[in-house]
Amino acid sequence: MSARATTIAGAGGAGPASRGWDVPALEGGTPIRNTLLPFARPTLGVEEERAAVQALRSGWLGTGPRTEQFERAFAAFVGCRDAVGVSSCTAGLYLALRALDLGPGDEVVTSPMTFPATANAIRQVGATPVLADVLPGRLTLDPRALRAATSPRTRGVVAVHFAGWPCEMDDLLAVAREAGLVVVEDAAHALGATYRGRAVGTLGDAAAFSFYATKNMTTGEGGMITTDRADLGDRLRRERLHGIDVDASRRAGSVYTHWEAVSDGWKLNLHDLASAIGLAQLAKLDGFVRRRRLLDARYRARLSELDAVEVLPGPSGAETAAQLFPILLRPGALRIDRDRMLEGLLAENVGVGVHFRALPQHRFFRETLAMSPDTVPVAMDASDRILSLPLYPSMSERDQDDVIEALTRLARYYAG
Ligand SMILES: *Cc1c(COP(=O)(O)O)cnc(C)c1O
Repeated sequence: MSARATTIAGAGGAGPASRGWDVPALEGGTPIRNTLLPFARPTLGVEEERAAVQALRSGWLGTGPRTEQFERAFAAFVGCRDAVGVSSCTAGLYLALRALDLGPGDEVVTSPMTFPATANAIRQVGATPVLADVLPGRLTLDPRALRAATSPRTRGVVAVHFAGWPCEMDDLLAVAREAGLVVVEDAAHALGATYRGRAVGTLGDAAAFSFYATKNMTTGEGGMITTDRADLGDRLRRERLHGIDVDASRRAGSVYTHWEAVSDGWKLNLHDLASAIGLAQLAKLDGFVRRRRLLDARYRARLSELDAVEVLPGPSGAETAAQLFPILLRPGALRIDRDRMLEGLLAENVGVGVHFRALPQHRFFRETLAMSPDTVPVAMDASDRILSLPLYPSMSERDQDDVIEALTRLARYYAG
C-alpha cells in the first residue's frame, strides 16, 4: 500500500539531502504513504452489528436488561463490586464526585495533563479544581505535588491515568489517606491496565471509564463508573436517571409500581443499544489490549534508536492499557518544534494527536479559573514537546513501520 521513498525525491535544497537522507514530504519529497493512516479507529465487526440489530428489534432501547448485563460483565472484567453505566466518562466523573459529596467550597486536586472534561466535572459539582504538577517523563500526578497542593479545603483528588499507564497509586493513596481525601480515578485511558496486581478501576473510591470512539472499547458514546464501595452503587444508579427509585425496565413489568423521585437526579444513563455494542466490545477487550501492548512494545523497541524522541515509562509493577502512544521531542535535538513535526507527519500521511496541551494552555482555564502555568512547569514543558502516534488494534505492523519510517525520516532530516 505504501510508496516507500528510498531515493531522494524533490529538490530538497542543501544540507541534509546531500548527506543522503530522504527528503520529507513537507520539503517536497514523496510521502511515505499514499493514503492517510488515521490517528485512531474503532475496531467493530459483525458481532457489534448483530448485537445492535438485536437490541433495535427487541423493542427496548432505554436503560434496561442489556445495560444490566453489561454492567455485571464490566464489573466482572474489572473485578470490582459494582459498575454503573453512564452516557460518558465526563458524566461518570461528575456523578462520582457528587455521590462522594463534593461540592461548593471544596477543592479537588487534579492533573493538568488531561482533557478539559476532568476539570469541568469538578466545576460542575460546584467544587474548585486545583492543579498539581506531574512526574517528569510519566506525566501522571506527582504525589509530592499533590501534598503541596492540599489545603484545609481540599477534599478530593482526581487521579488521571495517562496514555494507558496507571498513576503512582500507592504514593497518591498514602497522601490522600493522610489528608482525608476521596480518590476518583479518571480511567478514560486505562481500561485493561493494572497496578501492582490491582486493576485500574479498583484503586480509589470510584473510577470513570470512557467508551468514546477512540478509547480501548467503544459504544459510540458512553461510560462506566466502577466502585468497590457498597454505599455508592444504588445512589449512582438513581442519580444518573432522574433520582427515581424504580428504573424504567422494572416500571414496565406486569404489575404497576408507582415510582417516586427520591433525590436529585439527572439524565446521564447508558442506553441498551449502546450496552449491546458494549457487550460485544467487552468480549473482545482482552484481545484488543493484547494487540495494543504488542504494538506499544514494538514502538518502544524501534524508537529507542531515535535520540530525538523520548517514550513514556510506566510505574514499576504496572501493565499498560496502551491507549495512546505519546512521544516527547527531546529539547534541542531537532531544528523544528512539535507543531512542525505534526505537520511533517501529516504530510507523510501519518495521523497524529496531541495529548495533551496542559489545562493552563487553554484560555478558559487560564483566564476564567486563574490556573497558572507557573505552578505546573513539568506539564507546561511536556505540553510543548508531546505528540501521539497512531495506536489501535486494527493497525498492521506494516502501518506501524510507515509511522516509524516517517518519524525517522523527519528526525534525521531535521536533526539539530
Ligand atoms: C476521553 C477522556 C475523557 C472524556 O471521556 P468522554 O467519555 O468523552 O466523556 C475524560 N478524561 C480523559 C483523560 C479522556 O481522555
